[in-house]
Amino acid sequence: MNPSAVVSRFLPVVVGLTLLAAACQTTRPPQSSDRTVSALQERVDSLRAATDSLSRAAYLRKPFLHSTLWAQTAVEYAGTARQAYGLAEIMMRRGLTDSTWTASIEQAEAGAESYRTKPPAVVLDVDETVLDNSPYQARLIRDDESYEPESWKAWVREARADPVPGARAFTHAAVQNGVQVIYLTNRDADVEAATRTNLEALGFPVDDAPDAVLTQAERPGWEPKTTRRQWVADRYRILLLIGDNFGDFAAEVDTTVAARRQRSQAFREYWGARWIVLPNAQYGSWEGALHDFSYGLPPLRLLEAKHEHLHPKRPE
Ligand SMILES: [Mg+2]
Repeated sequence: MNPSAVVSRFLPVVVGLTLLAAACQTTRPPQSSDRTVSALQERVDSLRAATDSLSRAAYLRKPFLHSTLWAQTAVEYAGTARQAYGLAEIMMRRGLTDSTWTASIEQAEAGAESYRTKPPAVVLDVDETVLDNSPYQARLIRDDESYEPESWKAWVREARADPVPGARAFTHAAVQNGVQVIYLTNRDADVEAATRTNLEALGFPVDDAPDAVLTQAERPGWEPKTTRRQWVADRYRILLLIGDNFGDFAAEVDTTVAARRQRSQAFREYWGARWIVLPNAQYGSWEGALHDFSYGLPPLRLLEAKHEHLHPKRPE
């Protein structure tokens, strides 16, 4: 039972007992009435403290509440996503006019001669980049549950995710400019059909030439995103990488907060130019880094690990 339910179930009982005790005490001589009121006040205060404590516990057990509400209700979220895709279109046009331009670290390392004559492509992640899965997070909050592969795949198979604001218009601009659109996702191969259904129902271009949707483990060795990015890099000049997670752009990002920051700095000229990032405060490798990717820890331990990363910067 969640803490809110505990509060609702037991609060009437405790209040009832408190009132009963008060009623019994009113039968005592009048001189004890001050003590009775005082005792009653103490009970009410302690009850209020217990309720506050349980409410706080209930709140802390729902770490997705604000981030999910932000994605679902804030014009600031939708505006940020549109801003990202607006920038993506500007940079795509810039990349098209410069045959040495690439968003791929692998292509950059191999040199421009290895890719400059290849047809252009943009590579987009799927979850929280083109498809909005915040309803799944909303269900977890409402049902007091946490992420499980089974419930996640059940949601994916519904194929009812809405588009991330700005994503559809961007992909159509890419097609109009002769740019291949590739969706590179860590969704498993067994939900690729549902993913394609969802994308096509929303009007996203899915042009298999030869493969527009690259899912995890769809082919041997296709577990990490890096091998799939290499598959794209062998066939296209990658104008842009678009995603919500560091892993959509670079390898070896499941490491400490400090190491991720250092690695990000090494690619600072890519962000906002060749790499276009969408906001995702709900989940991602940034969150895993807060607890060394130990997702199986008890909730309280996870909470403690996260608190250790807070920087209150109190005055000396
Ligand atoms: Mg994603």
